[in-house]
Amino acid sequence: METIAQPTIFELLKKQFGYDSFLPNQEEIINNVLDQNDTIAIMPTGGGKSLCFQLPALALEGTTIVISPLIALMKDQVDALKANGIPAQFFNSSQPYGEQQQVLRELQSGNLKLIYVAPESLPQLNFILKIIKIGLFAVDEAHCISSWGHDFRPAYTQLKRLKEQFPNVPLIALTATADRATREDIALQLAIPNAKIFIASFDRPNLYLDVRPGQNRNKQIFDFLKNHRDESGIIYCLSRKGTEKLAATLTAKGYKAEAYHAGLTSEERTQIQENFTNDVSPIIVATIAFGMGIDKSNVRWVIHYNMPKNIDGYYQEIGRSGRDGMPAHTILFHSFGDIVMLRKFAEGADNEAYQLAKLERMQQYAEALSCRRKVLLGYFGEHISEDCGNCDICKAPPNYFDGTLIAQKVCSAVARLQEEEALGMVLDVLRGSQNAQVFDKGYQKIKTYGAAKDVPWRDLQHYVIQLLNQGVLEVYFHENGRLVLTPQAKRVLFEGKKVRLANFVQEIETVKIERAP
Ligand code: ADP
Ligand code: ZN
Repeated sequence: METIAQPTIFELLKKQFGYDSFLPNQEEIINNVLDQNDTIAIMPTGGGKSLCFQLPALALEGTTIVISPLIALMKDQVDALKANGIPAQFFNSSQPYGEQQQVLRELQSGNLKLIYVAPESLPQLNFILKIIKIGLFAVDEAHCISSWGHDFRPAYTQLKRLKEQFPNVPLIALTATADRATREDIALQLAIPNAKIFIASFDRPNLYLDVRPGQNRNKQIFDFLKNHRDESGIIYCLSRKGTEKLAATLTAKGYKAEAYHAGLTSEERTQIQENFTNDVSPIIVATIAFGMGIDKSNVRWVIHYNMPKNIDGYYQEIGRSGRDGMPAHTILFHSFGDIVMLRKFAEGADNEAYQLAKLERMQQYAEALSCRRKVLLGYFGEHISEDCGNCDICKAPPNYFDGTLIAQKVCSAVARLQEEEALGMVLDVLRGSQNAQVFDKGYQKIKTYGAAKDVPWRDLQHYVIQLLNQGVLEVYFHENGRLVLTPQAKRVLFEGKKVRLANFVQEIETVKIERAP
């Protein structure tokens, strides 16, 4: 055991990293690692994940192996460590042969405290790993191991063998995006069933959450910008052409804006990033290619011109604003046209059903009639009891009615269906549908069959979605989208907890179907 006395980790924090205190969860995570336990750390971007393995790397005997898919960022991270006098290296396919050999020699000498390696290059280290002392394995961006996740990387699947080969070396998996399903998958895939899971709060209370129908988006943007003249911001578009068109329109109106997308050369992209960081060109109109590794603290607003394909991406993107903790404004435009297009993108993918379920959740967020922050945090498994007061719904709440009875019926149906059925079937059962699938499964015999037959199908659907949004129910995306009760549902069913529901007011007919740019 290499437990280390409390003052020592504080000393390392101060001496090696120059910080006075830990960010939320860092200390607990580091202690868990130093106690030789496996760990899963879920922290929002900017939450300080790196320290959770860098500090233990110094406290533990041997070398810490950091597996990271972000080859482009490895050099910066290693340079930063070296600048603090910490012996570190990286190893990936972008290096010339000679440099790789040099790194291997350093690794073999046992003098490195950290080595960053791409998962694809890990097999090349295998031989040396067997003969040196390894302090810790750190799997960064661990959601890449889950085929349910949105960035699946096949090379991550071989990491399953780490625990077989090195059962006595502790392992820490870190990620900023993991719904409950992905989280469970990470533990399974990395073969760390007993890992302790730490989830830092994802709440960013300084971000104002604003969702609007996507009509006349350009006009809405210009109206917004009039009141945000000299601020820095990011507009996300779905297509490259869209970014260029909008950047040109903004420039014509006298704003300093540049387009950014994967079709530019890397020199162009570096230049644009620099212009943005230095406020030479404070507005960026970008595809999602933009943002990884951007550390600009004074981004005051983020606009989604098009709807993102899932909440994970959306939350990361809005999270690039307000890093300094000062108020920031986020606007999401949603339109039926975007949804149609995103559905097309998802169709035919290997994990089509999963992607479509995630998209549906995104759409439900956009159409939510309850506090947006509740919906967002609920998606990440964090359930807050109070409305946030800093979103469009809290600012202008709809008329609510007492939906407790409906909520009880829905929860009871979900319970009687053994939490095994997805939204469509739950609605069919509540509505007393004569559907063949209902009869095949014998659901016409359960007690809640037809319990809500007086509520129109569409209304009932919206009520169930509101229950999802309020954190009473949850969707298990990786298990056919089945609906599951949360602890809140139990309070609704057994403790008479009141539930507010709103009638769906948006008139679908008036939502113009727009072509995406
Ligand atoms: P993540 O990987 O979670 O996005 P990083 O590890 O890059 O986050 O850390 C985000 C920022 O927070 C960095 O600028 C880092 O230097 C800073 N940071 C990390 N830990 C601390 C701490 N204990 N005190 C102050 N700043 C910290
Ligand atoms: Zn709110």
